[in-house]
Amino acid sequence: MSLDPKRAVAELKELRALTGDENGAQRVAWTDTWLKAREWFAAKVTSLPVEHHYDAASNNWVTLRGVSEKSLLIGGHLDSVPNGGWLDGALNVIAGLEVLRRIAAEFGRRPPVTVRLVDWADEEGARFGRSLLGSSAFAGTHSIDADRVRTDRDGVKMEDALRRCGVEIAKFPDAEKEQKNAAAYIELHIEQGPVLERMHLPLAVVLGTKGVERHIITFHGQEAHSGSTPMNARRDALAAAAKLALEVRTIAKKHDDAVCTMGSVKTFPGIVTAVVGRCEVTLDQRDLDASVLAQMYREAQEASRRFAAEENCTVEWSRLWNIEPVPFHPQLLNLCEQAVRETSGTSHRMPSGPLHDAAEVSRAGIPTVMMFVQSLKGISHNKIEDTTEEQLEMSVVAFDRLASKAMDWIQK
Ligand SMILES: [Zn+2]
Repeated sequence: MSLDPKRAVAELKELRALTGDENGAQRVAWTDTWLKAREWFAAKVTSLPVEHHYDAASNNWVTLRGVSEKSLLIGGHLDSVPNGGWLDGALNVIAGLEVLRRIAAEFGRRPPVTVRLVDWADEEGARFGRSLLGSSAFAGTHSIDADRVRTDRDGVKMEDALRRCGVEIAKFPDAEKEQKNAAAYIELHIEQGPVLERMHLPLAVVLGTKGVERHIITFHGQEAHSGSTPMNARRDALAAAAKLALEVRTIAKKHDDAVCTMGSVKTFPGIVTAVVGRCEVTLDQRDLDASVLAQMYREAQEASRRFAAEENCTVEWSRLWNIEPVPFHPQLLNLCEQAVRETSGTSHRMPSGPLHDAAEVSRAGIPTVMMFVQSLKGISHNKIEDTTEEQLEMSVVAFDRLASKAMDWIQK
């Protein structure tokens, strides 16, 4: 049985029909539809000469034992956001399955190194707001105490939702055992942005995942009557925030791949007849280079103080979350580049703005690389998420080549 990229596309469609509706994919982690997707996947691997188990964080491991215990890990996630797309996460699991079939057939059920396909649990964090849950348990970067008490929209506690699926959150550290003998990790993913389509390229090598600085910035001015307060006597908190909203674009544009986003603005009292006395905004800054990220953070702080002073306001910052940039392994980047070039005739290197399970695996010290395939219109986390079938098939071929190269690399 040789590699069959068309079968991978057909299986993606099968999964879409089974777990999607007119609004898109509904494979939200810890729900019945997600469990249905996992059952479907479990049935797919029964004909392969593999061992199959769920670890303490419900990551689903399919292991093809090789001559060496040293392992190539191939990862993806079957979970989706509500009303999500058919490819985000699922492509890597299904492409990985196809690669596993090819390897099992080529080496007469016993490849030179062990190959393990993993379906990570709850990559999206859609229900409880905690992304990369299963892979962080694997990497030992989990935050059990903060996470167990999280609740979903209906007030269900995360701890209880996991228990319903047979998972005890207190046992998460046991998932770290799966790191044993892991020699390399590879992941294929849709780009989820417009860069490759604009460049007319099907595939890319992912340099790493960008670091993130995420803050709430609050400008304090003075609420005042919109009729009686002269323009030169105002302390308008929104005016200061608005200046910053434009300035963060200038700050980001100084660097090639950096992004800064002001995604939320709240005004108080928020009525048509009052000058804004308090304005709360959020800022999300990302770059692959830690020094660039630190510089953008500093510049945004300085700018906020300058604009606050200009508008007779004050400003305070509070960090919501941050994560350091995770650059991928240089030698695996080269192998990925070869695989992309041999398949599509050309290659491109780019950072990933979204986080992926690969970042957690890399943080565990396991050599890691990712490959991107083009997203049509750059849209993801939505039912219109799509990639042409031709490029999906191409991505399976390139990913399979990367798997072979990584196996050779592990043996050296
Ligand atoms: Zn994903």
